[in-house]
Amino acid sequence: MAIKNKSALHEKEGVSQPETTSKSSAQKIIKSRSKQPSTDQFVTQILKGDITFLSRAITLVESTNVKHQEKATEILERCLPYANKSIRIGITGVPGVGKSTFIESFGKQLTSQGKKIAVLAIDPSSSVNKGSILGDKTRMEELVTDANAFIRPSPSGTSLGGVAQKTRESIILCEAAGFDTIIIETVGVGQSETAVHSMVDFFLLLKIAGAGDELQGIKRGIIEMADAIVINKADGDNVQNAKIAKTEFNRALHLYPPKESTWQPKVLTCSSLQHNGIIAIDELINKYLKLTKENGYFTKRRNEQNIYWLKVTIDQQLKDAFYKNKKIAKQLDLELKKLEQGNTTPFNAAKRLLNL
Ligand code: GDP
Repeated sequence: MAIKNKSALHEKEGVSQPETTSKSSAQKIIKSRSKQPSTDQFVTQILKGDITFLSRAITLVESTNVKHQEKATEILERCLPYANKSIRIGITGVPGVGKSTFIESFGKQLTSQGKKIAVLAIDPSSSVNKGSILGDKTRMEELVTDANAFIRPSPSGTSLGGVAQKTRESIILCEAAGFDTIIIETVGVGQSETAVHSMVDFFLLLKIAGAGDELQGIKRGIIEMADAIVINKADGDNVQNAKIAKTEFNRALHLYPPKESTWQPKVLTCSSLQHNGIIAIDELINKYLKLTKENGYFTKRRNEQNIYWLKVTIDQQLKDAFYKNKKIAKQLDLELKKLEQGNTTPFNAAKRLLNL
């Protein structure tokens, strides 16, 4: 994907012929190429569905440079009226469960219907060590070459909150660029599922049979969030095991209280490798969308998500401003020493710092 986009970038930006270019015009080209397009240009091109500009805008969103962030904010505000028209699907599952294979199969199913899909990722590992679980391997090889698919690896960042916010903003840009289905992928570790759940309409948990957790009921929180549980790798010798797992999960799901959406979560099996059971998943999601759009839950939930993200952003920015403050940083050092020596309590130290 990255290679495809890079070559597209070169094509778009036009690489000149070195032999016929004078020194001064070459300098001009270099200057114009390094110059950032205007906000107007960005917005116009994104609304036309220009992938190169979309990628560059997402890079601005992900940048830590203040100027880039300001530009990203302008672009986002202008794109916002054109966003919100897509369906957002969250997909989670432990490493190896088959997320990328599933997204490839499911994604092709959607693009074959003429849909345009964007795949974004939240990968908590990429913020801890640069080696990202979702980004390192060659993933979704076929989908990557599909003109109706856009795949963006996980942004890196120092906190899950920060990474999630970038992904949320990238959703807006992808929607403005005309992508009607946004898939947000995350690994089923840590808190990232909660972040994904809070930005999608439909949450799909991918499982495999015989991993043991269906009996132990671990990660109850995730099962509770799921609108569908899909047992992947239901092929070959594994078909029977997948059926057993399906029964187990169905039984477990009935123990949970009804959802506000009134939707009863379903368990399905599929083989992403053999493209079996994928159509049924697409149909299931459509049923969910029909129900929640008719009963008003879809809109209600999106509004609630916006409020949630407003609060998360305020919390994050207050925290950032606090810790970046030099006076506070200095006092924090002193308070930590006092604390170590037993000369103050955490509560009193915090109170003094917050009153600075
Ligand atoms: P991820 O880490 O969750 O993204 O998992 P991958 O999509 O990379 O898949 C992990 C491994 O499981 C790969 O070797 C896949 O070929 C394999 N795999 C994925 N889906 C299926 C499936 O439906 N059936 C079988 N038999 N293998 C699968």
